[in-house]
Amino acid sequence: AFNAAVAEAQGALNAFIVTTPEKALDAAAKVDADRAAGKPLGKMAGVPIGMKDLFATHGVQTTAASKILEGFKPQYESTVSAKLWDAGAGMLGKLNLDQFAMGSSNETSAFGNVISPWRRPNDTAPLAPGGSSGGSSTAVAARIAPAATGTDTGGSIRQPAAFTGIAGIKPTYGRCSRWGVVAFASSLDQAGPMARDVTDCAIMLEVMAGFDPKDSTSLDMPVPAWSANLSGDMKGKKVGIPREYRLDGMDPDVAKSWDDGIAWLKDAGAEIVEISLPHTKYALPAYYIIAPAEASSNLARYDGVRYGLRDLPDGAGLQDMYAATRAAGFGPEVKRRIMIGTYVLSAGFYDAYYTQAQKVRALIARDFTRAFEQVDVILAPTAPSSAFALGEKSADPLEMYLNDVFSVPASLAGLPAMSVPAGLDRSGLPLGLQVIGKAFDEQGVLNAGLALE
Ligand code: GLN
Repeated sequence: AFNAAVAEAQGALNAFIVTTPEKALDAAAKVDADRAAGKPLGKMAGVPIGMKDLFATHGVQTTAASKILEGFKPQYESTVSAKLWDAGAGMLGKLNLDQFAMGSSNETSAFGNVISPWRRPNDTAPLAPGGSSGGSSTAVAARIAPAATGTDTGGSIRQPAAFTGIAGIKPTYGRCSRWGVVAFASSLDQAGPMARDVTDCAIMLEVMAGFDPKDSTSLDMPVPAWSANLSGDMKGKKVGIPREYRLDGMDPDVAKSWDDGIAWLKDAGAEIVEISLPHTKYALPAYYIIAPAEASSNLARYDGVRYGLRDLPDGAGLQDMYAATRAAGFGPEVKRRIMIGTYVLSAGFYDAYYTQAQKVRALIARDFTRAFEQVDVILAPTAPSSAFALGEKSADPLEMYLNDVFSVPASLAGLPAMSVPAGLDRSGLPLGLQVIGKAFDEQGVLNAGLALE
């Protein structure tokens, strides 16, 4: 049934880059066979899921939504996807995303943008599904996949979840292996689940997380039984409300949903504490130095030799091939990030930009450490607005970057953070609330998420 729904919705939503109905059916058949043989079933036995096309999948085209990887079929499987298949999940297909996960609206994909299943009442303008995990958010929100994988470097799980009314969690940096995930900014990239509710996220995260010797930043810690310990009871818990997130001119609907969230957590027994995260306003500029810097280094590997596209003009030498391949293969946003990253890492400007940004990153992490001496979790909006229309922000990169203002601080600090659906704004579009937790305290984040649900 999900395979049929995927096929039926593809024309309208463009959520998938390739579909793999046979893989979903194989997983279902395996459940039947295992059950008949009396074998134990995995935690996600027979559950068909969408896989963000940033995860390498053996023998199945993996593009990061870029022309430069078109036709690339990896000879290996990412650790996270392998864990999901081991737990019995089946793959519906590879989900569309912003190119190399750079973007907040899915409009940077080389395979056409994803279209949100949501519309404003009496308005046919197609809306952004959020990004970069916009195929994931759309597939789950449109009910064509029960769950999907996402990755979050500066908000790419949380913001699309908020835009489409679903749940998604970015765990603590290091919880999910980055092995076999196309790298964007390696010190920030984290995989996580996107699903209809907090419980499904908890179950799926248990499967995705875990130590992996193949990723040097993988956390060597056991995976807790998050789903078994879920509780929406907030008695005795302190919830921090960061003063600096209350921006001047904040969207009144977003402010109201934040207040609603505060009231819901109070009802669940929590004590509300105003806190300060004084360096918040420097998070966005620091992120847009550090992420492009790492991206410019990571993307050096796409040289026309090792993967996918090769553009070899007649009589060209090696340098010409590099240049032609990269010019043809990377989209404009990716090129912009490579330029910014190369600039901030260049000898003359390294100290002025990159070193400064790293110092700011440390201050932001310290803000959170201090706040978590007073509170158990932090509650904030996920994004400064509900979904915007496709095309509304794509002409102005800065405008697009501003959409990440609430999501990048937790990314820079490596903390677990979740977006949960928090009702609709006055134009009838979903809003999300964000719970940020202490390092390794996914349980606290999930529990507060459940209390908000
Ligand atoms: N929107 C942010 C960016 O463009 C975050 C992307 C992400 O988390 N992958 O960098």
